[in-house]
Amino acid sequence: MPADTILILGGTAEAGALAGELAAARPNLRVITSLAGRTAAPSLPVGEVRIGGFGGADGLAAYLKEEGVTRLIDATHPFAAGISRNAEKAAAAAAVPRLCLVRAPWMPVAGDLWTEVDCIGTARDALPGNARPFLALGRQHLSPFARRADLAPVVRMIDPPDPPLTFRADLVLGKPSREPAEEAALFTHLGVTHLVCRNSGGGASYAKIEAARMLGLPVIVIARPPAPAGPTVADLAAAIAWAAGTA
Ligand code: NAP
Repeated sequence: MPADTILILGGTAEAGALAGELAAARPNLRVITSLAGRTAAPSLPVGEVRIGGFGGADGLAAYLKEEGVTRLIDATHPFAAGISRNAEKAAAAAAVPRLCLVRAPWMPVAGDLWTEVDCIGTARDALPGNARPFLALGRQHLSPFARRADLAPVVRMIDPPDPPLTFRADLVLGKPSREPAEEAALFTHLGVTHLVCRNSGGGASYAKIEAARMLGLPVIVIARPPAPAGPTVADLAAAIAWAAGTA
């Protein structure tokens, strides 16, 4: 009988690392990671994994009860605001303690040419005529760019878009490189004039910001939605301590 059942709402590098470290540090815990199922071949974390939506906050609350979840860690992406709202409601309804693991946002440093905006539409409108922006955005956030026929965008995504994009763009398939020089070479090869991205934070996709700095490219940075309410930590060690009941 496990001491506790931890549900990690995942889909991020931190969530995967947390599942692995928890399983190693506390083998008596049952650790379940939940993925939305957005990518065709996700890298699966250690421990149990379930894939797919719960059916809203009520569905998640029901799942917490069915599986006897004793602690919930929302380690989803800072821009995944819907699931975080559901997690807050579901945890309250099922009386399950909840912790948010939220990585720190990126901050501009010397040499960065950032324009910070509050939404995708504003990012689109901030681009000058005939620009060739590199859109480092999820596929569900691209449709506003259909209204800028003058642009020649490059879009990077992990899987080919299905359905296809509704506007003309060059596609780069794959995950971002962690090497700034590789990202810079890609931008140069493609003739990119601007980078458009969200302030995701973390190390996995920061190389593109460094590459833009190296090349002197302007970056349109979309600010995060409001952070989920409730207890929040930014590092794995604090989340592990909380999950193990020592924090
Ligand atoms: P979202 O808009 O906040 O969530 C939409 C719906 O997707 C949720 O209501 C839920 O469906 C389902 N869902 C989301 N995350 C889930 C999870 N971990 N487990 C089970 N169901 C989940 O989310 P999103 O922005 O589409 O992101 C989806 C997932 O991709 C998240 O898990 C996130 O961590 C990851 N991710 C997102 C981004 C990003 O930029 N948004 C970037 C990298 C990774 P039901 O209501 O049916 O439960």
